[in-house]
Amino acid sequence: MCQLIVHGGAGKVRNSRSYREGVEEALRRGFAVLEKEGALEAVMAAVLSLEENPLFNCGTGSALNLDGEAEMDASVMTSEDRFGAVGSVKRVEHPILLAKRVMEETDHLLIVGDGAERLARFWGYPLYDPVIESRRDELEDVKRKGSAFLPKLHSFLGEEAKGTVGAVARDRMGRIAVATSTGGYAAKAPGRIGDSAILGAGTYASRWGGASATGHGEQIWRQLLCFEAVEEMRLHPAGEVISRLVREAKEQGCSCGLIGIDWRGRMAQAFNAEAMLWGTIENGQLTLDA
Ligand code: ASP
Repeated sequence: MCQLIVHGGAGKVRNSRSYREGVEEALRRGFAVLEKEGALEAVMAAVLSLEENPLFNCGTGSALNLDGEAEMDASVMTSEDRFGAVGSVKRVEHPILLAKRVMEETDHLLIVGDGAERLARFWGYPLYDPVIESRRDELEDVKRKGSAFLPKLHSFLGEEAKGTVGAVARDRMGRIAVATSTGGYAAKAPGRIGDSAILGAGTYASRWGGASATGHGEQIWRQLLCFEAVEEMRLHPAGEVISRLVREAKEQGCSCGLIGIDWRGRMAQAFNAEAMLWGTIENGQLTLDA
């Protein structure tokens, strides 16, 4: 049995059909390769499809920093302890592809900014502008509301749709992979890197399971939320662990959502924000958030 679970970010309620269609498309693309190619290729296919979709806050359509630029973070990890990430990359189409190549083709874990873009050019990815008009409007809006300073980002998070994406898969051989990709927040400080690029914070996998987070990145990082979740999956079912951690995170002021799969193939999701987009697929059977 193979499983794939995807999230499309935590934030305010978005009942638009197109968001759910985006999650469904990601699940279908991921599942199409899960059986034959395995967990890593499945999470890649799912996240690539969401990075292409301008509705989601990653790749094309990423949120903009205070300077009006998209600065994207992405990471990938497998249960064989392999990890790669990029942080604060601006002019690439698919940050998640770079993260995978950092994992597979370098000795490093995280490459940021200009260094990551130089690598992208070296690997033959063309210059690409991921900025879309509606994100410029969003940035102006945030600035008008006065939410543009870091201490205020937390309360702002509760109100706005975020659209960070993540995927966790487990293949027939029991291998687990996780991928997470984001543009961060609108009006974040230039150069800011969040949990989505950090091992154990927004992304984590081990033989005991895998998890991907969305929400208030600084708090998720402080709590090493995904590491904590996966460690606990060794002894407890994913559903129990994820619900408890998300509840506790709220008590500590962390607005977030979490998805995961444990080593026995049990999938789970929970969020303490107003809403989170998510969906699962197992043996071709698709479930989307209600
Ligand atoms: N966790 C992401 C970040 O802090 C944002 C999100 O999930 O919406 O960059």
